Amino acid sequence: MTPLRTYFHPDYSPHEVPSLARLAVAARYLHERGLAELVSPPALDRALLRGLHAESYLAAFECGSEPLASSQGIPWSPRMRDASYAMLAGQLAAVNHALDHGIAMNLARGFHHAVFERGAGFCPINGLAFVAHCRPDLQVFVVDCDEHGGNGTEEYAARLPNLYNASMFGTRFGCIGNARSWPFEVRLARDGRRAHLVALERIEALVRATMPDLLLYQAGADSHEHDPKSCSGFSARALVERDLRVFAMARRLAIPIVVIVAGGYQAAEAIARINAATARCALRAFARNAQSRTGSPGPTSIAAAP
Ligand SMILES: [Zn+2]
Repeated sequence: MTPLRTYFHPDYSPHEVPSLARLAVAARYLHERGLAELVSPPALDRALLRGLHAESYLAAFECGSEPLASSQGIPWSPRMRDASYAMLAGQLAAVNHALDHGIAMNLARGFHHAVFERGAGFCPINGLAFVAHCRPDLQVFVVDCDEHGGNGTEEYAARLPNLYNASMFGTRFGCIGNARSWPFEVRLARDGRRAHLVALERIEALVRATMPDLLLYQAGADSHEHDPKSCSGFSARALVERDLRVFAMARRLAIPIVVIVAGGYQAAEAIARINAATARCALRAFARNAQSRTGSPGPTSIAAAP
């Protein structure tokens, strides 16, 4: 099995920022199991950020000027700033690889809560809007399946004419939808076991109606039932069903897809196992000769694999 092209650099993962330190654990876990071919992105051209966020915020984040620099909720440091920049560089590198080869992963956060004026919700710079900002030649469709609604991306979908955002979440985080953003709240304990599949069918219908050039998939691990922040209550099997559906859709519609691992607040090893299951789903869906018309081959075996 050819491992999944996965962009990662140790700079993504400063040990003093717990939510980012988990990324290095996941990178090692996926690499050791032959699931990920880890590739370092080139340094970010910071000129690409111009116009993505308010100039006052970008300047404050660059030099650590408070209170704006830490407005996302993580104390600003040069290493935290550089982690954010490295992940953005990985985002663009993953996009380029996916456009040529169909799929790539960025072992990073999407930072979907960051809004134009500032960071928010532990998200300094919106890495999903960043792609649409840098690539106005592409229609970019975000399929956001993090536990939390991507309110920042929703705001950007109203600003950037080439950005679309469909999100399935357990925690709304202010998402109410707009002309290019569609929120789907799903809580399995309340809505029933198959509610997420219904939401994913509705998201696929939106993708079909748009037929974008690129999908950005936020495969959030914090939707898992044991995550302290989860209201979605997805079992490992439900997460695999989710991932397979999304990858099968990309394959079926022949739309390049970039996977971003997004959030997760369990112990690092538990998150790494969820990220590994996502990588297995991607490899399975995009394997040569894969038959992805049903989108539901063997979720249990993928979820249970060590
Ligand atoms: Zn989240």
